[in-house]
Amino acid sequence: MYQVNTNYLKLPGSYLFSTIGKKVSAYQQENPEETIIRLGIGDVTQPLPQAVITALHKAVDEMASADTFMGYAPDLGYDFLRNAIAENDYKKRGCDIAPDEIFVSDGAKSDSGNIQELFSSENVIAVTDPVYPVYVDSNVMAGRCGNYDTHSGEWDRVVYLPVTQENNFIPEFPKETPDVIYLCLPNNPTGTTLTKEQLQQWVDYARRKGSVIIFDAAYEAYIREKDVPHSIYECEGAKECCIEIRSFSKNAGFTGLRLGFTVVPKELKSGGASLHDMWARRHGTKFNGAPYIVQRAGEAVYSKEGQQQVHQLVDYYMENARMIREGLTDLGYTCFGGVNAPYIWLKTPDKMTSWEFFDHLLDKAHVVGTPGSGFGPSGEGYFRLTAFGTHENTKAALERIKAI
Ligand code: PLP
Repeated sequence: MYQVNTNYLKLPGSYLFSTIGKKVSAYQQENPEETIIRLGIGDVTQPLPQAVITALHKAVDEMASADTFMGYAPDLGYDFLRNAIAENDYKKRGCDIAPDEIFVSDGAKSDSGNIQELFSSENVIAVTDPVYPVYVDSNVMAGRCGNYDTHSGEWDRVVYLPVTQENNFIPEFPKETPDVIYLCLPNNPTGTTLTKEQLQQWVDYARRKGSVIIFDAAYEAYIREKDVPHSIYECEGAKECCIEIRSFSKNAGFTGLRLGFTVVPKELKSGGASLHDMWARRHGTKFNGAPYIVQRAGEAVYSKEGQQQVHQLVDYYMENARMIREGLTDLGYTCFGGVNAPYIWLKTPDKMTSWEFFDHLLDKAHVVGTPGSGFGPSGEGYFRLTAFGTHENTKAALERIKAI
């Protein structure tokens, strides 16, 4: 008889957002008259930039004629997109990343979940705590995390790097040296960042210890402060020890279109093995390329109009972030994030647990957020609200919270 991968059975409960979804549906069924405002999941609400829509239409028309039809895309991405990324995201920021070090994909979730395949099952991972759940869960599925302790909410083979109000959301170097370190900056869920100097210390640490950093920069477009790096390759020596993952979801609203990329520099080697060659091999075997029309849409993001429209979109959401941060602070909440990120991370009032506050907000204000404990044990006592709603809903949610 066949056997299942029992590592999957070790995962506690279902994925955070499906648990929230189930709770919200149950509430809606019992209270059909209430309109619920969702500031929980990090999905965008505004339409795609016009430059992207125009590029999509053009690419669709190309597909209608035998002369211009495009079949399978190159598995690593079309040159027109890889060149645009290298030029705009890296060269303009003084980072030396070649187009052939960029691997185009269908989004940062796939890449951040799949990248662990490059590493030995013996490797120990480190994650900031709280953290985007995909990093740990994908390593659990691969059998790399040991066993889950329901009491502490920790896996026994994962190194946790707490980021809380107490350490100003700056992860400290752990006692046990990890092999693979996941850093997400600007951070989901805390909305906090590191300065270039602080990030450089992590790059130096990884080089010293022979670790690799997986740097998830999905929220790079939201950075406003000058001393916050947009790419880890702004740090010296990062090409020797860092992989960077990016997404078109949060800057240009591609959550439904699906496009992202991962940078694996050629210098990144363990023993004689090139991670770049291994990731290329993996893509070639398991991925048949992001759709042509979507890659053309991605290229349009880098056009002059595309850039202007993306900035407007980001400004729109950052205005929500400001409203939430200032509105809740005025109400006496302690808030973090929301300055270089579309997430506001607040301390739950009256020592409520994260899920108690979730239920309270749903029940009394009909507003949905995300309980901090769903992102890791150090997220307990915190709560995440997103700035991805409309202005109207964000304002209405704040009024409802004020009323309770
Ligand atoms: N990485 C982080 C940190 C995220 O928060 C998200 C989505 O919420 C993703 C990756 C997923 O991005 P994509 O839509 O490109 O898969």
